[in-house]
Amino acid sequence: MRLCGRSNVAEFLEDFIVYRNLAPMDERLPKLDDLRPKLNLPPGTIPRKHELSYAQVIVELLRAAQCLQNPRAELRRLVFIGDTRMSDGGAFDNICQVAGWEGIIFIGSENTELFEFESVQTAGGQTMVLSNRWSALNSSEEYNLRRYCAARGFPIDEHTAVIVDLDKTALGARGRNSQVIDRARVEAVRQTVETLLGDAFNLESFLFSYNQLNQPEFHPFTADNQDYLAYICLILGSGLYDTEKVIREVRGKRLLSFRQFIDQVETHKAQLAPSLQTIHDTIYANVQAGDPTPFKAFRYNEYRQTVQRMGYLPDATPLDVLLREEIVITQEVRALALDWKREGALLFGLSDKPDEASLPTPELAAKGYQPLHRTFTHVVGLPG
Ligand SMILES: [Mg+2]
Repeated sequence: MRLCGRSNVAEFLEDFIVYRNLAPMDERLPKLDDLRPKLNLPPGTIPRKHELSYAQVIVELLRAAQCLQNPRAELRRLVFIGDTRMSDGGAFDNICQVAGWEGIIFIGSENTELFEFESVQTAGGQTMVLSNRWSALNSSEEYNLRRYCAARGFPIDEHTAVIVDLDKTALGARGRNSQVIDRARVEAVRQTVETLLGDAFNLESFLFSYNQLNQPEFHPFTADNQDYLAYICLILGSGLYDTEKVIREVRGKRLLSFRQFIDQVETHKAQLAPSLQTIHDTIYANVQAGDPTPFKAFRYNEYRQTVQRMGYLPDATPLDVLLREEIVITQEVRALALDWKREGALLFGLSDKPDEASLPTPELAAKGYQPLHRTFTHVVGLPG
């Protein structure tokens, strides 16, 4: 692996990107509200990645993007490059099904074990390629996705859409650099909770609550939602409830959901400090309105913690330090995306990161801060 200069994700995706709110960064693409009548989407809701309606929206956006880029070529095929078998694989299957396309999805997660390159059938009858090297996209000597597509008679041309996942794929590759993304998020939770609790903040008990409740065992309770987890850590840090007791209640199935937890806090909120009551009221209102990202203050901090870790180290930084401390672009993803773009494919980026954690506030934008896909950082990987 080596350093391949500096760039941003927009170099290969331009603004053909949506973050979690499904608001296209390219203003020429239809807004979610414009698509609602056609797709029968109820007002005010944002489809989540595992839902069929999410795929319906993405297919509309891909077709609209294709109209801008190559209006005479109809899309017929999909390649998806991601890092999460369940979540990316599910969205991929749904998109293929909704559009009636044939598809291949690559799922990468790097480790130091022997090279693996395996293809399996997805639940939707499409092809999934799994590998433990990101270089299996295009630069591996043995097998790679590029050659695999050619050998399968699956052309990558102006009839092909290529979806690139952002989180832990194009940025902070899973198994190689993804821990920096996680660290930015934990640091944002800590910073948010510490600021709100002030002197009452205790780092050790915060880390204990966060690390415990972040385990998959507690996903039914936290819905694996980092906003919920941040809020729970805040309330536990305030001393309103005892962490050990909450853990026992979840394990004993007496505390079943986050909703049950926040409803309880609502009943006892008079015991919270006034500043915490205010933040509780805001989050509670967002939760009641169905907002999956109810803890805005935390997500704004996450944005800052994330951009702060992009492109800030000197070019001469040793590679292992760069991969440990900076969120970098995955060279293999970038090289393949640029090649396929040149060959006529439609490139489109998906991110499940909340928009509040991906885009600058107007105040930060005025200071020159950019959305994550436009922020420059180092590029690291195996050159193709
Ligand atoms: Mg991902």
